[in-house]
Amino acid sequence: MSSDRVGDIRSVLEFYEAMGIDRIPVTLVEAKSSARAPQRQRQDAADAALTTDEKRERLAALREEIGDCARCKLSERRTKIVYGDGDPGARIMFIGEGPGKEEDLQGLPFVGDAGMLLTRLIEKMGLGRSDVYIANIVKCRPPLNRDPEDDEIATCRGFVERQASIIRPEVIVTLGRIALQTLLDNPKLRITAARGKFYDYKGIPLMPTFHPAYLLRNPGDKWKTWADAQKVMERIGMK
Ligand code: SF4
Repeated sequence: MSSDRVGDIRSVLEFYEAMGIDRIPVTLVEAKSSARAPQRQRQDAADAALTTDEKRERLAALREEIGDCARCKLSERRTKIVYGDGDPGARIMFIGEGPGKEEDLQGLPFVGDAGMLLTRLIEKMGLGRSDVYIANIVKCRPPLNRDPEDDEIATCRGFVERQASIIRPEVIVTLGRIALQTLLDNPKLRITAARGKFYDYKGIPLMPTFHPAYLLRNPGDKWKTWADAQKVMERIGMK
């Protein structure tokens, strides 16, 4: 390794130390094995030390970058792009799979019946919707609420990953199978087996739980999601 490179690494470490950050994002130490571009890794490292106002600005800039997106076929039948909503400085970020009918009309995530259930969960945790951040893997409604397809997920997922990198919450809660499998890059994961345990997403603890739409159909499983939420609260010292 050249002395310039060693110097670069030293200055990054000194920067982290000066910011009071005592651990390094996985993306920095995985540089050789990661397929992600070096430019993106530098961006993640820079995102790790942002103030809430800077996070707000970067989220707004990312929204501008998305624009009137037609990068995938979900653009053809959507009404509004559902970017994400909440506190840029949130300690908890919820990530679902995609907008439904009501979300598509309003341009806001989780505002239909499933959204009301999610709101009740958040309030039961002692928070409000404005205290957390909520987004989806794809930002446009799949027709007839079908699952997003692989090519749509592959095209759109970079946006929510960028949002997570900017917000850098203390915990990410994935809602349902698609968000879990996408963020952990593992199509074999099953929500019933995976829920209730913490996983690692680029240095951020990730707790999978059921999608609220599933809980509307299977109310007997609501206690399991509450148990998962309590683990999240314990993890970040809320109880
Ligand atoms: S789902 Fe994502 S990639 Fe596809 S059109 Fe909407 S914003 Fe663009």
